[in-house]
Amino acid sequence: MSQPLESLLDNAIQAIEQSDDLMSLEAVRVAFLGKKGEVTARLKGLGQISAAERPVVGQEINRIKLRIQKELEQRKSFISERLIADKLISDTVDVTLPGRHSQSGGLHPVTLTMNRIQKMFSKLGFDIVEGPEVEDEFHNFEALNIPVHHPARAMHDTFYFDDDRLLRTHTSPVQIRVLENQQPPVRIIAPGRVYRCDSDLTHTPMFHQVEGLMIDEQVSFSGLKGTLEHFLKLFFERDDLKTRFRPSYFPFTEPSMEADISCVMCSGSGCRVCGYTGWIEILGCGMVHPEVFRHTGVDSDIYTGYAFGLGVERMAMLRYGVNDLRLFFENDLRFLRQFS
Ligand SMILES: [Zn+2]
Repeated sequence: MSQPLESLLDNAIQAIEQSDDLMSLEAVRVAFLGKKGEVTARLKGLGQISAAERPVVGQEINRIKLRIQKELEQRKSFISERLIADKLISDTVDVTLPGRHSQSGGLHPVTLTMNRIQKMFSKLGFDIVEGPEVEDEFHNFEALNIPVHHPARAMHDTFYFDDDRLLRTHTSPVQIRVLENQQPPVRIIAPGRVYRCDSDLTHTPMFHQVEGLMIDEQVSFSGLKGTLEHFLKLFFERDDLKTRFRPSYFPFTEPSMEADISCVMCSGSGCRVCGYTGWIEILGCGMVHPEVFRHTGVDSDIYTGYAFGLGVERMAMLRYGVNDLRLFFENDLRFLRQFS
């Protein structure tokens, strides 16, 4: 004969109490009350019991079955409630915790430098204008007094599309485009990307320039020097910054000069950055060449003008103490985050 009914009940209750989740609880139910469960088997076995005993035993099995069902129900609601309570605890929001900040990006150091230059010249009364990056030979070379066989063309390492179109090699063609549409007085700067087929330690195929142009009656060489000296002191935030101008050559200015500043790293005492000279070459400039006026229909008997051009990456390197030009274009966040 199988185990007494009471111990069957004890086993069931014990198994129910040991069930920690709904799945194991269901397994217990199947084991006792399922089609092949132990209690079900007892009910099926009633037929083998004598007719006299049958009602008593049947009643007893039913009592146990009901008891097990009740225990199962209770355990089930206990487990369900505990699941909900656990979930509430794990989902609790502590409103006193600081918020999770999304990481905001920052402007690229070249953009920052460009913005800074624009702001300074804006304050000096210069308008900011832009021109196309895909240019034609006339605006990029010819009108700037660089005719076809001029050696300066070879020096520019130009990217050509076809016979006449090219990626501008400098921002100077913006001067021409402005003068084609506007009579003097003109006071503009033109920031933007320029392209040269050149790539090494100190050159990248794309870089940024800011072009400046001032044309009016009685615009003078000393005005050019004064403006640039003022700008350079402001830009590098040094009142004691020294500037010197050396004669140079550009086809579109006459006379032409290159400007140096006292080294911002060593203040002029000599270091690796300035090649132990105490001076750093910073920009090119000069008085607008009469040929440029002729190409754009400006009367050079009435007007004079000056122009200058500077490299934005170079300004950024000197201002932030960056010693490798390529860092600006590698997009390494460890580098870029230092500027945000
Ligand atoms: Zn130096």
